Amino acid sequence: ARLGGDEFVVLMEQLKEERDALQLAERLRRCLAKPWRHDGEEVWLSMSMGVATATSQQEVLADELLRRADLTMYRVKEAGRDGVALYDQDADREVQRVVGMRQQLEQGLRHHRFQLDYQPQVELLDGRIVGAEALVRLLNAQGERLSPATFIPLAERTGLIVPVECWVIGQALECLANWQRQGLPWSLSVNISPQHLERGDLVEQLLREQQRSGADLRGLTVEITETVMLQAQAEAHERLLQLKAAGVRIALDDFGTGYSSLAWLSRLPVDAVKLDQTYVQQMAEDERCALLVRGFVRVFQEMGLQVVAEGIETEEQRQRLLEMGCHLGQGYLFGRPAPLNAAPW
Ligand code: C2E
Ligand code: MG
Ligand code: MG
Repeated sequence: ARLGGDEFVVLMEQLKEERDALQLAERLRRCLAKPWRHDGEEVWLSMSMGVATATSQQEVLADELLRRADLTMYRVKEAGRDGVALYDQDADREVQRVVGMRQQLEQGLRHHRFQLDYQPQVELLDGRIVGAEALVRLLNAQGERLSPATFIPLAERTGLIVPVECWVIGQALECLANWQRQGLPWSLSVNISPQHLERGDLVEQLLREQQRSGADLRGLTVEITETVMLQAQAEAHERLLQLKAAGVRIALDDFGTGYSSLAWLSRLPVDAVKLDQTYVQQMAEDERCALLVRGFVRVFQEMGLQVVAEGIETEEQRQRLLEMGCHLGQGYLFGRPAPLNAAPW
């Protein structure tokens, strides 16, 4: 049957095994893949097929069977088209999870259900606060706070990251303006994803929010990760220069988890590097890791970059970093991310 457009359904009865269904589908695909001539041109068809089965022991409603075949067909398309696949329950659950999370993101935006926590950044020597990092959270309909690790990747894939981060920027600049009015010399960091940086109107947005809030942008740091350089080197570079021209500082986040390319780093217009928490945490058990950290700190400082160590949880880690010449840090030892109405804010 033709369902519509370029979608067809084949119903096969009395199969012995699932494998037989796959083989039939594969034969069908090969038949249609044979080239033929049309108007003197050689043409051929490619086909993406999803196979779902039911047995008399395991009955499935017709609509559900179609839904499973359809979902599987889309997975074949995503995997590069022109193939056959069998329905997979785990993949189905994953799709349901993504659909659910996407709805939560959209509802979060519509009903203003995002929140910002602020984590202190401190002077390692005496624990004095020098700034904060704003970290976004999503409240779902049940009132649970979802960690950004669960929704940022999907927000990036769906483009919803841009409105989310616009909201973050607005809130963060309001907070920064408040601190500045009170004479507090703290800087504030926000995380910006590559998709947002690439879109190009980030700088205009920042300037708009700056006007609205009255914040001095010299107190703002934008944290980016190395993936920025993988996706759009030339554009990203240009954008970072524009940000710097607006007075914003740039920090490279999670250094040591990705490519850690020192060649890129020497070209990127960054002011600070944040050493990833995995380094800080492995330092104690792994002497080679400790040597790496010591080396990084020295190189960055000689390049004139500020170094911030992330994920400091113990007094021993603080001491060790200080000995290595690292002066700034962030971590549970000094303070967990917390809303503005909580300590220490
Ligand atoms: P990140 O920017 O590297 O932020 C640091 C993460 O480490 C935060 O997790 C923070 O809670 C956690 N952390 C801080 N100190 C410690 C510590 O001592 N021990 C341990 N184990 N963890 C510590 P969080 O808040 O779950 O954020 C995770 C990631 O989500 C962030 O990593 C950042 O990449 C991303 N993220 C958060 N907000 C935004 C945003 O507005 N935009 C984008 N693009 N990403 C965001
Ligand atoms: Mg960060
Ligand atoms: Mg980080």
